[in-house]
Amino acid sequence: MKPLTSRPPFYWRLRPFIYRLEGSRCSVCGHFHPLNRVVCRRCGSRTLERERLNNAGRLVNYTVVHQAQEGFEKTTPYLVGWVEMDDGTNLVGQLTDCDPQDLKVGMTIEMVVRKLRVDGDSNLIVYGVKFRPLVQR
Ligand SMILES: [Zn+2]
Repeated sequence: MKPLTSRPPFYWRLRPFIYRLEGSRCSVCGHFHPLNRVVCRRCGSRTLERERLNNAGRLVNYTVVHQAQEGFEKTTPYLVGWVEMDDGTNLVGQLTDCDPQDLKVGMTIEMVVRKLRVDGDSNLIVYGVKFRPLVQR
């Protein structure tokens, strides 16, 4: 299988989202875009504003992945969760710092930045958002 090749410009544009959950929200329809957009993909409006999502949400559902997509084969099995953030935005991402028996649908989840994978060709370490059960501080 061909190793996954990272495209730095793509990651560069995604950086605000994958490190801070920051993107653009349409002022007309309320749709959230993970990239800084000029035009809303849902309604075509040009009135979008930068917004950073809350770091917390609730776990809607989750699964254990045993057959990973390309680039994530070495990390199997891993957990993937569907998370509804506090503002209603739905995201799907890897769950970390927990085991399946620690998870309950509806539990509070928080965002953390973790290593996602290592690029096969360049050994570029790709970091990004993952989610974990809320840690009480
Ligand atoms: Zn819109």
